[in-house]
Amino acid sequence: MFTSKKHQHGRSSIKARLCSLLAFAALIGASIPARAEDQTQVGERILVVGRRLFDGVDFQSEKAILIEGPVIVDVGPREVLKERASRIIDLGDATILPGFIELHGHSLVRNLPQEVILRHGITTLRDVGGPLSPPTGGIGRLRVLTAGPIITVQQGYPLSVFGKGYLAETVQTAEDAKALVRKLVQGGAAVIKVALEPGGEPGAPWSHEHDGAVPPPWPIASVDIIAAVVEEAHRLHRIVTAHVSENKGASIALAAGVDEWAHVPCSELDEALVQQAVKQKVKIVTTLDTLSSCQGAFANARELAKAGASFLYGAEIAHLEIPWGIDARELQLMRHMAGMSDVEILRSATSEAGKELGLAPLGALRAGAPADLIAVKGDPRTNFKVLEYPDLVISGGKTVVDNFASPRSPADLPPP
Ligand SMILES: [Zn+2]
Repeated sequence: MFTSKKHQHGRSSIKARLCSLLAFAALIGASIPARAEDQTQVGERILVVGRRLFDGVDFQSEKAILIEGPVIVDVGPREVLKERASRIIDLGDATILPGFIELHGHSLVRNLPQEVILRHGITTLRDVGGPLSPPTGGIGRLRVLTAGPIITVQQGYPLSVFGKGYLAETVQTAEDAKALVRKLVQGGAAVIKVALEPGGEPGAPWSHEHDGAVPPPWPIASVDIIAAVVEEAHRLHRIVTAHVSENKGASIALAAGVDEWAHVPCSELDEALVQQAVKQKVKIVTTLDTLSSCQGAFANARELAKAGASFLYGAEIAHLEIPWGIDARELQLMRHMAGMSDVEILRSATSEAGKELGLAPLGALRAGAPADLIAVKGDPRTNFKVLEYPDLVISGGKTVVDNFASPRSPADLPPP
């Protein structure tokens, strides 16, 4: 019934999205000044060498990374690059990867310690629902981008569950919606988030009892309101992510032309909506770990995957069961439920996520990219768990974890 707006998803909208992302990248670049004290010693060029390198796109062997200040200046064979290095960090039998990008967190509203998240492998976090803040961090500190408050309607989710607060703001008309988008962008929003959640899905985290929660069904915004959000957000070079978890919200999101779903939906979707989402090239942030009690999330992941959907890594940092850092179980569920290959999973948390933020080459290890990288001993493809405890974390050229310099694992210690 919402077919009238499908035509919006032709080449022009993809082009508009690309322009949006480029303009946003320029904005972020300008808004995260490098602090002098954070810089690598002036002129120092560090060569990081490990047996394996995942560059954000594929695995490479015999490649090393040359870092100067906050930036990667070259990636290539060790023998070629070592001439230009003033210091060499040789990690031996280790795998170097880009710092991970978490696309679905709520770290600010829960006051999570950002340094803990950074030390556990996430170098960039997109907070989608919480206090609004311009982009911060990036050099020795967690890079945080925010959506600010979620756009909803009066008595709608998340207010229906969490009560009044800065987690959401309500709109009544399309004009209200556009004004709110302008206000959020002015305040530094990197992405716009809308909630389309009527409630009542068994097993959903938002179906748990909360003090003062209103029983579902909850009102949700019309297609006209969400379409106005999308139009204004695109005009201001931002993408729109939607909280959807069942058929009604998903169909409104698709009809209005949102760019991204913030979750794999919780209840099983109609086949037509699965097909439509893929046809419209909606990106889908997985959050399968926190949704693992939902009745339909895994089936949706399988059906979306079968139809050719593009998934992005996001684990819902700040939900109680999710670690403050990389979530190995999320990666495991992407493998088993969405049928993704190891390389597809790693791309979705690095280079593909950087593109979604409009900040490429963030998330890739190549010349010109921010020097955000992690390393683990051995090969993480045989055990995602090691990614939760990286042995090396470099954020914007600044080392924040280095277990290679001072061995900590029992295997590294001499026998008693
Ligand atoms: Zn969330």
